[in-house]
Amino acid sequence: MTRRGSAQRAWTTAEIDRLRDMAGRIPVREICRNLKRSRKSVEHAAARLGLSLRCCRTRLVWCDECATWRSALDRDGRCRVCRMREQLAGREAACAEALAAMTPEQRAVYAESEALRATRRFDARPRPAKRESCPMSRYERDKAQAEYLLDLEKWEYRRLKLPYDAAKTRLRRMREVTGTNPRKK
Ligand SMILES: [Zn+2]
Repeated sequence: MTRRGSAQRAWTTAEIDRLRDMAGRIPVREICRNLKRSRKSVEHAAARLGLSLRCCRTRLVWCDECATWRSALDRDGRCRVCRMREQLAGREAACAEALAAMTPEQRAVYAESEALRATRRFDARPRPAKRESCPMSRYERDKAQAEYLLDLEKWEYRRLKLPYDAAKTRLRRMREVTGTNPRKK
C-alpha cells in the first residue's frame, strides 16, 4: 500500500539528522516507526545520504553486578562470570572448612600428597585485546565491539572456572584423606 502523499513527503533537516543518528544502530523497522515513514522512503533517503542501514544484531545484556555487557543473564539477573565468582568463593570456603576440620595427622598426609603433585598450571591466556582498526561503518564497529565483549566474557569466566575446578579436586582429596566423602557412604 503506497500513498503518494507520504512517499513524496520531503525530508526535513531534523529528520535527516535523526536518520543519521539511528542508521546502523537500530533496526530499519524501528527507524521507520520512529520517523513515521515507509521502509522505501527510509531506504531511499539512506542511500541518498550514503548511510548503511545494516544493523549489528548481536544482542548483549547488561549485568548490574559487574557493570558489563554480557551474552546472557540468569533468573537473578547475573551473568555467568558473576555466578562463577560466587561459586568459586563458596568452594574455597568449603576447602578452608575441610582443612580446619582435619586432625594434624590427616593434614600432614594431605599436605604431603599435595606437595607430590606437580604445580597446577593455570592457563595464562592473555586478556583479549581490543582490536585497533578503523572500521568502515557503524555496523562493523558495533560488531567488533560485541565480539570483543564476548571474548572478554569467555576469558573472565575461564579465569574463575579453572581455580574453581582445582578447589573441587582439592576438596575431594581432603575428603579421601579424612574418609568423609559423602558420596562414598
Ligand atoms: Zn556480571
